Amino acid sequence: MSELAIYGGPRTLDPSRIQPWPPVDQRDEELVLNALHAEKQARGDHSIALEREFAEWNGNRYAIFTNSGTAALHMGLVGCGVGAGDHVLVTAYTWSSSATCILHHNAIPIFVDIDFATINMDIAKIEAAITPRTKAIVAVNLHGLALDFDQLMAVARKHNLKVIEDCCQAHGALFDGRKVGTFGDAAAFSFNQNKCMCCGEGGMFVTNDEEVYRNACSLWSFGETRRPEESRDYHAYALGWMYRNNEITAAFARAQLEKYPHHFANLLANAAVLNRRLPSTPGLILPTEPDGHTHNWYNYNLRIDFAAIGWTGSQVRFRDAVNRALNAEGIPTSVWQRFILPEMTVFQAKNAYGGGFPWSIPGADEGVDYDPANYPVARRHCASYIALVMALRAPNGPEIAESIAEGIAKVFGQLDRIDPDRILK
Ligand SMILES: *Cc1c(COP(=O)(O)O)cnc(C)c1O
Repeated sequence: MSELAIYGGPRTLDPSRIQPWPPVDQRDEELVLNALHAEKQARGDHSIALEREFAEWNGNRYAIFTNSGTAALHMGLVGCGVGAGDHVLVTAYTWSSSATCILHHNAIPIFVDIDFATINMDIAKIEAAITPRTKAIVAVNLHGLALDFDQLMAVARKHNLKVIEDCCQAHGALFDGRKVGTFGDAAAFSFNQNKCMCCGEGGMFVTNDEEVYRNACSLWSFGETRRPEESRDYHAYALGWMYRNNEITAAFARAQLEKYPHHFANLLANAAVLNRRLPSTPGLILPTEPDGHTHNWYNYNLRIDFAAIGWTGSQVRFRDAVNRALNAEGIPTSVWQRFILPEMTVFQAKNAYGGGFPWSIPGADEGVDYDPANYPVARRHCASYIALVMALRAPNGPEIAESIAEGIAKVFGQLDRIDPDRILK
């Protein structure tokens, strides 16, 4: 095997071969220009059509186009009737806004440790986290792998908990042949540029429940209660935010949604190359796709098995050095979050709005303990992962995936040569 590029050996992949995401073509230009020249640039035909098309594609009765995935998550909580001081369960390892959306409505996040294999919430640990105040679960389909909704919905129904699916990374992912966003009481998708389906910034709220839909609509637009298709009466009936998006972005999203089946198939094909080509070498833990699941491979995680290679030094430093070595080979891996959520300052400080709110709501903080030691599996994952995200997306095809696999195999085949002191300086 040739010398690692980080030590002066030949580079595996010329990074200029990797195309940026998302591919934009004449169809995007046609729809965006149409929106730009239309009479309405705020809510109009493109937003309404996008909602209909997305709802049809995903299999939901209702959809509302929002300015972010976080807005759609907040709408899910309010749509499901979560209120101030209520407890809401969420996984300890995810994007911050899977949990800060709970704070947005003055409710209290209660973290649940993850399952190491799937990197999703450990469903077996849900019951131990339930308190008398628990009203809902934010069920995150992280990295594009669906939760086991047979198990999750059984626990939720047993304890009368609402389920808000966070599908911000999971467009098109399946459990038991069914798309994510159709299992819970409501769901949120993100169309931020990093996501598998995107339009710059934006999101989509979906539900099959009319009451959830009406409550979510009210939060979405100034606390008004008329539905988007009805005329407005300009009255705030409840606390509302301004979570609408615009026509130009809607048009871009429509063009990207049309192409998503192709982009999704491309992701699956590229991940299949990695799954086939990556070696079973002791130091490398490959991502799992359990039976009955179709991963969308939003984020293909490589993890280092420190026990298998006998590494006893700093795990984070070793991981960072491996990531650098991969980058030197031309493989665009990265380290995403360096903290599990309970370690983040807003939760450690228990202060979101000043005055300790919402934890200072009488009784709300009872039994709430954000000691990071309560989440050992999330911490183990967080110290060992390396993320591979954009390079597997269209138009990058299997020949790029082959080179990526080659670079990963080269570095993981020489973990004994990784010296953090030399690489990180
Ligand atoms: C991106 C993301 C969000 C938030 O979506 P935005 O559109 O950026 O607000 C929420 N949850 C997860 C898991 C995400 O990856």
